Amino acid sequence: MFDKILIANRGEIACRVAATCRWLGVKSVAVYSDADANAKHVAACDEAVHIGGASAADSYLRIERIIDAARATGAQAIHPGYGFLSENEDFAHACDEAGIVFIGPPVSAIAAMGSKAAAKALMHAAAVPLVPGYHGDDQDPALLQREADRIGYPVLLKASAGGGGKGMRVVERSGDFAAALASCKREAASSFGNDRVLIEKYLTRPRHVEVQVFADKHGGAVYLFDRDCSVQRRHQKVLEEAPAPGLAGEVRRAMGEAAVAAARAVDYVGAGTVEFIMTGADFYFMEMNTRLQVEHPVTEMVTGLDLVEWQLRVAGGEPLPLAQADLKVNGHALEARIYAESPARGFLPSTGTLKHLRMPEGVEFATGASVRIDSGVREGDTITPFYDPMIAKLIVHGATRADALATMQRALEACEIVGPQTNVEFLQRLVTSEPFATADLDTGLIERHHDALFAPRDKPLREALALACAALLRRERGAARGASPWDGLAHWRLNGGYTQSFVWRDLDGDALLSARFAHDGRAQTLASGAADAEPFAWWLGGGEREYGVTLGNSRVTGRVFIDGDVFHVFCLGAAFAFEWQDLLAHAADAEHGEGRLTAPMPGKVIAVLVKPGAVVEKGAPLIVMEAMKMEHTIGAPSAGKVTEVLYAVGDQVADGAQLLVLEAE
Ligand code: ADP
Ligand code: ADP
Ligand code: MG
Repeated sequence: MFDKILIANRGEIACRVAATCRWLGVKSVAVYSDADANAKHVAACDEAVHIGGASAADSYLRIERIIDAARATGAQAIHPGYGFLSENEDFAHACDEAGIVFIGPPVSAIAAMGSKAAAKALMHAAAVPLVPGYHGDDQDPALLQREADRIGYPVLLKASAGGGGKGMRVVERSGDFAAALASCKREAASSFGNDRVLIEKYLTRPRHVEVQVFADKHGGAVYLFDRDCSVQRRHQKVLEEAPAPGLAGEVRRAMGEAAVAAARAVDYVGAGTVEFIMTGADFYFMEMNTRLQVEHPVTEMVTGLDLVEWQLRVAGGEPLPLAQADLKVNGHALEARIYAESPARGFLPSTGTLKHLRMPEGVEFATGASVRIDSGVREGDTITPFYDPMIAKLIVHGATRADALATMQRALEACEIVGPQTNVEFLQRLVTSEPFATADLDTGLIERHHDALFAPRDKPLREALALACAALLRRERGAARGASPWDGLAHWRLNGGYTQSFVWRDLDGDALLSARFAHDGRAQTLASGAADAEPFAWWLGGGEREYGVTLGNSRVTGRVFIDGDVFHVFCLGAAFAFEWQDLLAHAADAEHGEGRLTAPMPGKVIAVLVKPGAVVEKGAPLIVMEAMKMEHTIGAPSAGKVTEVLYAVGDQVADGAQLLVLEAE
């Protein structure tokens, strides 16, 4: 075994590799860019070397810098992780030249699989089944058009050097082919520096099923079973699982053996993944990824093995730790990729500081189920535009798929992230959706169920609002005394009774919500929206940022993270962002203005904050109107008693209309 290795990567995979190094007593060296000086992966390793600027081209893709760092620190081997230089044959070659072990396959195997077209030619020779298509050298557009017409539409154009879901075009009809070819070649040239394309029959409703293989330097090769990665957005994986559901034993074995044949055909060494596209029980070779895969943890969970440990042992010249007959699948594992992105905006990446980050570690789950979080960030870290916006991988294992699924649902509900937008809520819908729950999997699942997956969802708004009010009351008490929130009670006893209106903007629904807190010296109540006042109590929970409330008959605990005037509430498995509208400040402004009880312009009533009979102080907010996309709060021109409320939420009002009647004191 090595004494020291360098990890030529960042983020969760660098942390993941470092964890195995620690476990094996191998020293680890991190490399980092300007943007990553304080990154988690740097802290996770024993030493770290700065290699350049923030952009990948200036740091994680700089072969010489990385080789120099390995030399300078005395690292005997380099683990490339995934992405970056992991499938770069020049890098593997440079390691060889420098006498440093590349923890991966030989240069020749990377080269053979690096071109999807050349790989398919090899696989054809090794009798591995291929999707009907064309993967020849001749790239004459007229010939490609004839081949596409022969294969039959729809066809898929792929950049031969492509990866990461880029450089692909579906072509529906012959007339569209020429334009699609030109655009695919442009993208291929700019993304991969090579414009060679191949054509495949575009399969409808296929599954993506891949096989984990491992080979050693002594001719040993095994498969560590399969993973289903059909749930994809923009041809990129979102949910993965092992084993692939519903495969007949003989199909599973045939795929495993085909994958091993593929690896043997290129004299493979180390960890690799052979990706197949499947329809029914038919499977076809798609490509081989000559590295550790993002979703390798699901295989680790069902086999009980550490694949990074295997990588290190094999790279160090040891034989495979187990033979095929010793390998078994135990239970079922699921992985969800938690990204900083906005699903509603076409999964556009989102950036920003992770102001609050709580992952479901230490949460209790169904008996026997376990949860693993692989993450490269901590609370306070920033998701930058420079690298992949993945926040964490959430991996669960259970005795059955149903157990794993139930645990995944609960684990996602326990994720709390404030800062960049995330896909957590989208993942929650995905894992509770009918097709995923019943394992009716294919690569079009997200698109086909788009409407259901993006439909508004019922959320426990009333409870969340009560928690936000509790956190605000606590903040106000603390501020009133400038000391402990606990002794702030005197504040409320001043006149034996007290009411306070809160108006919140629900930032997700972009709606205004109101709540009215009242304290008559003995009992507290809260009226949410137009609902009647209910008995209300709140307290601080045991955990950090934790609050409890009772509202009427319900009792709820949740967490509230306050970011300025935005209160992020996590309760009952849902997340909310409420922005507190400081009406007293608005009302004070209004006081200097008209202070009348009439509509300042035609508009809509969006919140009514008082009921007939309410006794209000001067400046108290009474009604909120929306007009011309602006909000106007109508405040009390003087202290008094509200005798009549003339409009309700949702009503349209004319310019100058009287909104309520106030009897001045
Ligand atoms: P996997 O196949 O391991 O599930 P992906 O194919 O999505 O994962 O790619 C793994 C990682 O490598 C991702 O972070 C992706 O952004 C990156 N990646 C893959 N191929 C390329 C490429 N050709 N260029 C740039 N980044 C890539
Ligand atoms: P990448 O290198 O970007 O991972 P792949 O060749 O592995 O490219 O394909 C990525 C995804 O595109 C697959 O997981 C699958 O969803 C879809 N895909 C690839 N080939 C086909 C095909 N022939 N028919 C239908 N879908 C395909
Ligand atoms: Mg692929």
